[in-house]
Amino acid sequence: MTPRPSEWGPPFRFKPEDLESLFVVLHEQAYKIIGPTVNDDAIVLGELNSTADLPVGWTDEQSGGSYRLARHSRPEFFHFASGPHSLKQYLHPPSVCLWTASRNGHGFEIMEKVQEAGKLAFVGVRACDLHALAILDKVFKAGPLPDSSYALRRSQLLVIAVNCTSPGGTCFCESMKCGPQVDEGFDLVLTEIEDEGRHFFVGQAGSESGRTIAAKIPQEEASSTDLERVETMLNDARTRMGRRLDTSDLKKQLYRSYDHPRWEETAERCLNCGNCTMVCPTCFCNTMEDVTDLSGVRAERWRKWDSCFTTDFSYIHGGSIRSSAKSRYRQWLIHKLATWVDQFGTFGCVGCGRCITWCPVGIDLTEETAAILESNSTSTPGMK
Ligand code: SF4
Ligand code: SF4
Repeated sequence: MTPRPSEWGPPFRFKPEDLESLFVVLHEQAYKIIGPTVNDDAIVLGELNSTADLPVGWTDEQSGGSYRLARHSRPEFFHFASGPHSLKQYLHPPSVCLWTASRNGHGFEIMEKVQEAGKLAFVGVRACDLHALAILDKVFKAGPLPDSSYALRRSQLLVIAVNCTSPGGTCFCESMKCGPQVDEGFDLVLTEIEDEGRHFFVGQAGSESGRTIAAKIPQEEASSTDLERVETMLNDARTRMGRRLDTSDLKKQLYRSYDHPRWEETAERCLNCGNCTMVCPTCFCNTMEDVTDLSGVRAERWRKWDSCFTTDFSYIHGGSIRSSAKSRYRQWLIHKLATWVDQFGTFGCVGCGRCITWCPVGIDLTEETAAILESNSTSTPGMK
């Protein structure tokens, strides 16, 4: 296995039935457990009462514009790729009241509403979503005006991550250097191993909380063979990514592409539905709505998810800056893969593939980018 930071605990192995022990420990510590479960014909995130709520016997088949649940006969708990949900909806909820204002005789009293979610333990988090979490942290916690509700929710979060050995048809986390191996930001990481009739987990703590919890699971020391098996499975997953993206020189190449004809071609297919931004674990654009009661005594400010695919999103005193579908798609893709780098120091894309799977017409960020890069490489010098 790759070298581990010194604060990580020693690797250990445990039986699949002892995953339930982990759930018991989490419940004893008053965590609400959130993890993958089957609902509405998809593997989504929801509250888990026990391991019986995990999608054992289910997997998914994903491609551009297509998601299907499928049955399998293996005993694994985590044999599937990312579904439509991510941690974003819990840390940056789709709709929150930020403050209320009440008339008090001299004016208005403003009361900030800090939204608590309690102690949440996320089970089964993939490497791509942990990298997305790190991106959301930069947006909402770093900087001069941190979001107090986000910071509170984040401080109460426990992450039980899973190394991904079943990448989907639209995944490309390997290209974005965001997976499939969990390498940061977790309390406990598990690798589920099922082969030749053996089924077990290899675990490792990545924080003091993770060490405390891991110590309560019945376990034995992981052998060097177990660790080699983990490494082999991860290397195998790296070769089975459904998509790839060449990220070398990406920012510079995209900055040269503003007048590329491909934007217009994509815009002819794009429905401007905003699905890609809703499912994206890093998209954070939002809008504000102020509401008042009929008596004018009380007002509320709500923050709601918005999308750069709407004309209203870029509306400024009398007009929309991005009035064409072409300009909106171009804004989204160039932000993800170029301007985000200038803004936050990383790409805004972790390669989870959700925007490809859940785009109703199967528009594929990797395909669009590759088409632009390819024609850039064959264009005459000086082309914008
Ligand atoms: S842009 Fe697409 S692939 Fe990248 S993080 Fe967002 S949803 Fe995932
Ligand atoms: S790219 Fe696809 S998901 Fe995104 S707005 Fe266009 S049609 Fe909708």
